[in-house]
Amino acid sequence: KEKVPSDIEIAMAQTPKPITELAHEIGVLPTELESYGPYKAKVDLSVLNRLAHRKDGKYILISGITPTPLGEGKSTTTIGLAQALGAHMGRLTFANVRQPSQGPTFGIKGGAAGGGYSQVIPMDEFNLHLTGDIHAVTAANNLLAAALDARMLHEATQSDKALYSRLVPTKKGKREFAPLMFKRLKKLGIDKTDPNELTPEEIKRFARLDVDPETITWNRVIDVNDRFLRKITIGQAPTEQGYERVTGFDISVASECMAVLALTTDLRDMRERLGNMVVATSKQGEPVTADDIGCGGALAVLMKDAIKPNLMQTLEGTPVFVHAGPFANIAHGNSSILADRVALKLAGTEEGDEPDRVGYVLTEGGFGADMGMEKFCNIKCRVSGLKPDAVVIVATTRALKMHGGGPDVTPGKPLHDTYTKENLATLEEGCKNLVKHIENSRKFGLKVIVAINQFSTDTPAELELVRQQSLAGGADAAVVSNHWAEGGAGARALAEAVVAVCEGQSEFKFLYDLDLPIEKKIEIISKEIYGADGIELSELAQKQVETYTRQGYSNLPICMAKTQYSFSHDPKLKNVATGFTIPIRAVRLSAGAGFLYPILGDMQTMPGLGTRPGFWEVDLDESGKVVGLF
Ligand code: ADP
Repeated sequence: KEKVPSDIEIAMAQTPKPITELAHEIGVLPTELESYGPYKAKVDLSVLNRLAHRKDGKYILISGITPTPLGEGKSTTTIGLAQALGAHMGRLTFANVRQPSQGPTFGIKGGAAGGGYSQVIPMDEFNLHLTGDIHAVTAANNLLAAALDARMLHEATQSDKALYSRLVPTKKGKREFAPLMFKRLKKLGIDKTDPNELTPEEIKRFARLDVDPETITWNRVIDVNDRFLRKITIGQAPTEQGYERVTGFDISVASECMAVLALTTDLRDMRERLGNMVVATSKQGEPVTADDIGCGGALAVLMKDAIKPNLMQTLEGTPVFVHAGPFANIAHGNSSILADRVALKLAGTEEGDEPDRVGYVLTEGGFGADMGMEKFCNIKCRVSGLKPDAVVIVATTRALKMHGGGPDVTPGKPLHDTYTKENLATLEEGCKNLVKHIENSRKFGLKVIVAINQFSTDTPAELELVRQQSLAGGADAAVVSNHWAEGGAGARALAEAVVAVCEGQSEFKFLYDLDLPIEKKIEIISKEIYGADGIELSELAQKQVETYTRQGYSNLPICMAKTQYSFSHDPKLKNVATGFTIPIRAVRLSAGAGFLYPILGDMQTMPGLGTRPGFWEVDLDESGKVVGLF
C-alpha cells in the first residue's frame, strides 16, 4: 500500500481554485461575495432573501461515538463525504464546519481541517485567523468585561449626582440621553425623555447598576490554552484605588459572544442577543445586561462582519462553510445556523427542478453524539427551526477498542498492540458505546447512518463486526469509508447510503419541553442521554437555579458543560457507564445566546497546555510556508 503523506504535505500540494470560481459554481453572485485573499470569502446574508423561495436541501448532522483524545475523524468524514457527494456524484454538497480554535491547534489535538485526502484548503489559513471572526468575538467579549469593571469603579467612587452628570453630560448647554439609555429607563419604568426631569431617587436608580460582585459571571477571554489565567486578581494598580477583584479567563470559543454568533439568525437578532447578555445580578436581584452597561451596540459593530459565513473549499474543490467555533464540551459545539441556512438554500430546489437536483448540507457537531448532537437537536435546531434529515455517526475501531477495555490512548505516544492488531473480543465489547449513541439518536427521531472511518491497520473481520453491530443496534445503514486514504472516491459507498436513507422522511423531535423546570431538563438529559441514575446540585447551583428561575430565565434550553470522554461526568468511565449520579457544580446563564449551562464535575472553561504541545512542530520553511500543522 502507498504511504499517505502528512496532512500539511497533502494540503500544500494542491492549488485551490480561485474562490470567485467556486462562488460562481455554487450560485453565489459576485455582489454577494467578499473576498479575503484569493481562496477565502465571506458570503453576504442577502443571499438568503434572494433564494427565500427555494425549498431547502437535505440536512445531515455528522456526529460520532465517544472519542479518544486523538479524535475519531468527524471532520475528516464530513469533508470526505462532501467530496464524494459533490465531486463524485454531482450533487451540490456543502461541508459546514467550525472555525478551529488556536487552543487545540497549538495544544494536543492539532487543527480541524480534516485529514489525509479529505481536507479543507488552504489548511494553514483555515486553522489560523481565517477571516478574523474569533478575534472579533474576543474583542467584543473583552470590551464588555472592561466596561463592567470600569463602571463598578465609577459607581464606587462617585456620588449619584456626579455619576449621573458624567453618564448624561451637558453638551452645548443641554443634557441628552444616549439612545441606548431609553432601554434602561423603560426597564426601570421611568417614563421621562428629558434628563433634567429625573428626581434624585430616579437619578440614583438610573445611574447605579449596583452590581453584586459575588454574582458576576462575565469572564475575560483569549483564544489560547492559557491555564494561568483561570483565576486572576484584577485592579491591582494604584489607579484602581484598591478595588481589586478575583476573576478569570475562559477560552474565546467557550464565550457567550461565540455562542451568539453561532445561534443568531440575522443582524438585528444578533444585536438583540448581544444587548441581552447578562453579566451579573444587581444587589436588588435584577439581571444586569450588556445594554444596561451601554455596549450592546458596540459589540454588534465589532461582530458585524463576523456574522457572514466564510466560504472555502475541499481538496477536491467542493464548497465548505467555516463559521463560528464553539467548543462542544464547554459550549454548544456547532457551527452557525446562518452558514447552514445559506448552504441549505444554495443546495435547495426550485419549482420544476427534478428531485435528484437536491443538494446536501453536512454540518458537524463536536465530540460524541452525547455532546454535539444533543446540543444540535435541543439548542441549535430549536432556534433555527430546521429539521435534520439524518445523522451520520462516525466510529473507529480504535475508539471502540478503547471502550472495550483497551489501554489509554495518549497523544504523541505509539498505539498499543490492541489497536494495531486484530482483536475482535475487545472491539465487540466496545461496540456498546456505539449502540448507545445510535439509541440516543433514535430518541430525537433521527435516521442513523454509521460511518466506519477506516484505518490502515483495521482488518476486514473487524470492520465487518462493527457493521453488523451497528445494524443490530438499530442503524439504518452502516458503511466502511476510506476517504482519509482515498479522498471522495473512498466515501462513495457512504455517500450512496446517505442518499438512500435521506429519501425517507425523518420524524425529528426534541428531547424535552422548554417549560419544564431547569432541574428537570438537566435530569432528562442526564438520564436519557448519559444513562445516569440522577443528578445532584451543589448549594451554589441550587441558588443559581432559584435566581434564574425568579428572573424569568427558566424556559431556556440546557447546554451541558461535560467531559467529552465519557457518557458520564467522569472521563475515566469508558464505554457505557452505569450507576452514576451527575454532580452539577454550578449553573450559568447565557441569556443572549439563549441557554443555561450547568457545569458538570470539575469541567474547566479554560484548557491548559501539556508538556509537549503541538506548537513544537510549527514553523516557517525557507520560502515562508507554514510547516508542522496537522
Ligand atoms: P474529529 O473531527 O472527530 O475530532 P478529525 O477528523 O479531526 O476528528 O481527525 C482527527 C485526526 O485523525 C486527524 O489528524 C486526522 O488526520 C486523523 N484521521 C482521521 N481519520 C483517519 C484515518 N482513517 N486514518 C488515519 N488518520 C485519520
